[in-house]
Parts: sequence; C-alpha cells; structure tokens
Amino acid sequence: MAETLPADVALVLDAVLGEDDPVHLAPRRQVPHIRVRGRCTCGCDTAYFDLDRHAVEPAPSGPGTVVAAEVPIFMEDGECPGEVLVFTQGGYLSWLEVCSWSDETEVSLATAERSLRLGCQPSDKAEATK
Ligand SMILES: [Zn+2]
Repeated sequence: MAETLPADVALVLDAVLGEDDPVHLAPRRQVPHIRVRGRCTCGCDTAYFDLDRHAVEPAPSGPGTVVAAEVPIFMEDGECPGEVLVFTQGGYLSWLEVCSWSDETEVSLATAERSLRLGCQPSDKAEATK
C-alpha cells in the first residue's frame, strides 16, 4: 500500500462500519485498500477515497451511489449536531462525509471521532421524541 489512512479516518470508518452488520462487511473489508485522495477544505474533514478495485470485492449494493453507513454524532450534552455518512459507488467505498445540521455547533471528523469514542447518547429530550 502506498500510504496508510489518516488515523481519524481509520477510526471513524472502523466505528461506523460495524462488524456485526452484514451490510457493513463488504465495505469494511475494503478499508485496508483505500487511501484518501482529498479532503473537503471547509473544515468538516469530509474525505474522498481512491480504492484499488482489483484488490477487493464490491459490496452487493448495485451500480449506484448508496449510503453504506449513517451514524449520528452526539455531543456530551446529548445534542445531535450532525452525522457521519459513508458512501459507496458501485459497491466500492467512495467517500466519508461529515454532515452538519447545526448552526451553533461546528461538526468535523474530530467531533465524530470523539462522539463515537465516548459513546455519547441522545439526550432524554431527543429520546422521548422517538
Ligand atoms: Zn466540507
């Protein structure tokens, strides 16, 4: 492999592509074969991937662009200011997007990583609206 994945990207991919979900297994197996081609410059750290398509099996999700994983980001106070999305194109990992819903809270890959690591949960208020 030419270069290793940045630690933040590797950590978040590992967390959102859980081993217990069969839908996540194919893209998860592709992770060792991707490298970051570019990052969004707005500060959100959305990362675009290059993947050696000869080295991996595509996920069985068809030829289109699909969301392979979608994980909300929670702050310590239970606020949910955004989410992390993993996209595949034609079954191949394509990009990791950090999406912000909040005007007040800045969301980046670092925020997502912290949320996943701390296991932040929705607040009681958010939980009650389910
Ligand atoms: Zn951005």
